[in-house]
Amino acid sequence: MGEEALFSEEDLKDEIIRVMKVLYNRGLVSALGGNVSARIPGSSEIWITPSGVFKGDLHPEDLIKIDLEGNVIEGYLRPSVEWPMHTIIYKKRPDVNAVIHAHNPITTGLALAGVELKPITVEAVLTLRRVPIVPFAYPGTDELAKVVAEHIEGVRALVLQNHGVVAVGYNLVEAEAVVETLEEVALTQLTAFIASGGKEPPVIPEKDRELASRLYGLK
Ligand code: 13P
Ligand code: ZN
Repeated sequence: MGEEALFSEEDLKDEIIRVMKVLYNRGLVSALGGNVSARIPGSSEIWITPSGVFKGDLHPEDLIKIDLEGNVIEGYLRPSVEWPMHTIIYKKRPDVNAVIHAHNPITTGLALAGVELKPITVEAVLTLRRVPIVPFAYPGTDELAKVVAEHIEGVRALVLQNHGVVAVGYNLVEAEAVVETLEEVALTQLTAFIASGGKEPPVIPEKDRELASRLYGLK
């Protein structure tokens, strides 16, 4: 039985709303900042959150179904302005079924200070792997979608300079875990930096990172 038979579109929409609520309550998206989408299994259509609507209490009827060219198939509200970024990811990454754009304050702050996330915890190694920082492009533009497309190959997350993050996953929980882990690792790294008076944090040794990669079949 394929995933198509296991998850209805209603389940997918409920899951998008659940993820948005969790991220809002954790301060990773704000009242009007951040967006979430999920691919309808086996199709070239996605459900995406609406633009300019309070993110902490969305309802299934607020979501919009669009195709990968941005045509609205179903729904009454306007799709997120970041639909070009979401759809370009689905086009480039057939392995991705969920995309989350969040405004993680600490992850974004570290990037502004020129600091990349380091392999300081097992989660950083396994869940995040490499997290490139991409140059600023104005939110909601084709230029932002283009710069994201140029860097999304082989990664699970990007930091969008002066803006936030974008995370991808096989499903919504996986993408949600990436967004949360970004902030967890960023906070841990910042804490280590402050508590040590600005020293470089010790990272997980290369041999253990390689072992983890082999055990989990990571590339
Ligand atoms: P939307 O409300 O259109 O999704 O925009 C929020 C946002 O974070 C833009 O980058
Ligand atoms: Zn944004």
